[in-house]
Amino acid sequence: MKKYAPYGTKPLQKAEILLTRIAKTLFVDDCNCIICGEEKFGLGRSGICEECKAKMTVNDGEICKKCGRVLANEAEYCNTCQNNDRYFGVARSVYVYEGDAVKLVYGLKFGGKRYLAKYMAAEMIDKYLDEEFDCDCVTAVPLSAKRRRQRGYNQADLLAREISRALKLDYVDKAVVKTKDNGEQAKLGFAAREENVKGAYAVTDKEAFKGRKVLLVDDVLTTGATASEVAKVILKAKAESVSVLTYASTKYKVSSETGDGEGKYEEQMV
Ligand SMILES: [Zn+2]
Ligand SMILES: [Zn+2]
Repeated sequence: MKKYAPYGTKPLQKAEILLTRIAKTLFVDDCNCIICGEEKFGLGRSGICEECKAKMTVNDGEICKKCGRVLANEAEYCNTCQNNDRYFGVARSVYVYEGDAVKLVYGLKFGGKRYLAKYMAAEMIDKYLDEEFDCDCVTAVPLSAKRRRQRGYNQADLLAREISRALKLDYVDKAVVKTKDNGEQAKLGFAAREENVKGAYAVTDKEAFKGRKVLLVDDVLTTGATASEVAKVILKAKAESVSVLTYASTKYKVSSETGDGEGKYEEQMV
C-alpha cells in the first residue's frame, strides 16, 4: 500500500515552481549575457558578453566637454552648451544611446527588468572612476508621483542606489521631486523640451544638498534639459556642484529644420 504525505506534496511543488518562475522574471543567472541571453563564462560585472559589447558604441572620443555627447566635429562644446545655461558641471555617459543600449534602457524602464540596474550601474561606476568624478553624495532624477505609481519604481533611482552603495557615497533620497507631470519629452525639439521642464522640479529638503558635491544620476541624457533643470534646483539649495552620470546619451544632432541647434529625439520616452 502506498503511503501519502498527509497533505500531499503537490501544493509544495506548485509553490516551488511558482517561486522559480517569479525568480526567473526578477533575476537572470550571472552566467547569461543580459543582451543575447546566451550562457557565457567570465561575463564580468557588466553582464554583457564580448560579442554584444563589440556592437555597442562607447560614448567616447569627440565629445562635448560639458554635456558629454558625441559630436560630429572637433568642436569643444555642442551648440546647446555654448548657447544655453547648463547648470551641471559636467555630464558623462557610458554608451551612445543606440542599438542595444536602447534595448537595455527600455528593458529597465518599461520592461520591468529591475535586475538590469545592477549591471548597468557597474559600468557607470567604472565611468565615474575613469572620469575622476569627486562627489560626496548621490541622487536620482525623480519621476512625477503619477509616473512612479504607474511604473512602480524609478529606473534612475535603482541605478543611483547601486552606485551609491558601491562607491560608499551617501544616497540622498526624496529630496528632489518632480512637481508637474509634464508628459512625454519624446518627439519634442530642443526648445520645446527646455520649456517643458522649466519649473518641473523642486527641492523639498533644504538641508540635504548644502555644501555638497552632488552626483545626479539618470538613465539617458538627451538634450540635457532635464539634467540642467534638476541641477539648477539642487544648486539653489546651496550644493557646491552637480555632476551628471547617465548610462547612455544621444549623439548631438544639428537640425537645420528647427534651427535650434538640436534635432528631434524621437527614440526617447521620458
Ligand atoms: Zn551577448
Ligand atoms: Zn554639450
